[in-house]
Amino acid sequence: VARLILILGDQLSESIAALNAADKASDVIVMAEVGEEGSYVPHHPKKIALILAAMRKFAARLRDDGWQVAYSELDDTDNTQSIPGELIRRADQFGTSEVIAIRPGEFRLIEALEDCPLDVRLLEDDRFIASHAEFEAWAEGRKALRMEYFYREMRRKTGLLMEGDQPAGGKWNFDHDNRKPAPDDVDFSGPMQFTPDDVVEDVLDLVEARFGNHFGDLRPFWFATDQGQARRALAHFVRYGLAKFGDYQDAMLADNQFLYHALVSPYLNIGLLDPMEVCRAVEEAWKAGDVPINAAEGFIRQVIGWREYVRGIYFHEGPDYPRRNGLNHQRKLPEFFWGGETRMRCVSKAVAQTGTQAYAHHIQRLMVTGNFALLAGLDPSEVSEWYLAVYADAFEWVEAPNVVGMSQFADGGVIASKPYVSSGAYINRMSDYCKGCHYKVSVKTGEGACPFNLLYWHFLDRHRDRFSNNARMGNMYRTWDRMDEDRRATVLREAQQVLDKMQNGEVI
Ligand code: FAD
Ligand code: SF4
Repeated sequence: VARLILILGDQLSESIAALNAADKASDVIVMAEVGEEGSYVPHHPKKIALILAAMRKFAARLRDDGWQVAYSELDDTDNTQSIPGELIRRADQFGTSEVIAIRPGEFRLIEALEDCPLDVRLLEDDRFIASHAEFEAWAEGRKALRMEYFYREMRRKTGLLMEGDQPAGGKWNFDHDNRKPAPDDVDFSGPMQFTPDDVVEDVLDLVEARFGNHFGDLRPFWFATDQGQARRALAHFVRYGLAKFGDYQDAMLADNQFLYHALVSPYLNIGLLDPMEVCRAVEEAWKAGDVPINAAEGFIRQVIGWREYVRGIYFHEGPDYPRRNGLNHQRKLPEFFWGGETRMRCVSKAVAQTGTQAYAHHIQRLMVTGNFALLAGLDPSEVSEWYLAVYADAFEWVEAPNVVGMSQFADGGVIASKPYVSSGAYINRMSDYCKGCHYKVSVKTGEGACPFNLLYWHFLDRHRDRFSNNARMGNMYRTWDRMDEDRRATVLREAQQVLDKMQNGEVI
């Protein structure tokens, strides 16, 4: 044997650089289901099942294609249950010390591979539009790394929605059109769902036995688990959901978990879909006149803009990034993040659907759970660990910048120019959560006051030094300062009571 070719569970693409660099005749592909990866945070059972089922199918496909694959199943008796452990075992078995791997999307694993006592060559993951070198070149010398400018570079580079060197439709960004509140009814039936086949059923049994105690429902399981299914799911979304994606991108409904969202991030992030194929499908639909420009542009911006940008930030900022705590928030994550009782209907609904689907869409993550965590001053490491565990699409390179940076402002403002905080009014405008909530969104203090209303001012007040000079927040401070002193004292006292109750484990 010449070399081992390591393929991790989020690297399931046939065009991946490690396979391109490999020799089918002599190299051995190493794939391993290991306990360490399943449990270093308590991953949602659906997420673990997605990855294991997709790995098994990918390995079968490689074998059909003539590759020699050394595959370790989780329950194999000689499985060492760690990635370096499995590499060492396979190196011994096949009499080689050479390993080719793709640089993982997580510093923890990169270090583990670098420390592995074998001759490991790490190749760049080229399934992204911007290479590390391109991102660094863009970031070089800039005072602020704002997504919008990076996104324009990516538009120019890919030619997506470009007419010569001008943006299609005359504008780079149609976000202004994409803020419609929740519609009364949704005419998209949601993502395509797949009935588990035998491979998936085996994995479901395994996950139930090994990780059934983790937060979240394993069944019903309906994710796509191979490239063909993922492509069908994409086509289904483009045909039936995309047209209104833009309009209702920020809307939330208590009883509709998907609205017009694509649910392709889990597939993109493990390699079943390629970002350019996704964007081309969207661009084609616009060219064919099937979807408006605000839908196509809005969607493509998420993929070639935000997705690429957060990855760039993660690697640019370095290994300490996920643990930053710029606002020095220390409170423990309350039990209701793990399904415990809360009277806040918005939070309770967002957490409940996270439990059933391992999914919540962007605005639920940002403006409900994330907003609450930030207002309440929860420790961003604990918050980040929660997001990493509970969402099927969560891998550290994309999760940490979104949570630590965008949502919790714990990176000191690298990603966001101001914190994403709001009172209950925003949630009420964009959703139907507040109808039927124990709290009253219109009540600011006293009996029935919405906790978001109280905590919002508490947040601004306790971080006055940090934010009062921020041009985009001046209005908020002026509003606060105009309130009479008694009222401000009442707000702060009641907010503190909410926080104390939360910390004492009482239901809020
Ligand atoms: P759609 O709304 O249909 O969007 C289309 C695609 O755009 C997504 O599939 C995704 O690939 C991409 N995208 C959109 N926004 C972002 C973004 N901010 N960063 C990266 N890609 C984006 N996304 C993850 O993939 N993994 C995560 O762990 C993750 N954690 C998040 C945590 C928080 C606090 C927030 C606010 C956002 C997070 N996101 C994460 C981004 C976003 O919420 C998800 O990508 C999106 O909800 C996935 O669902 P969808 O495929 O239906 O997306
Ligand atoms: Fe959430 Fe407040 Fe609305 Fe209740 S009233 S759903 S807590 S925003």
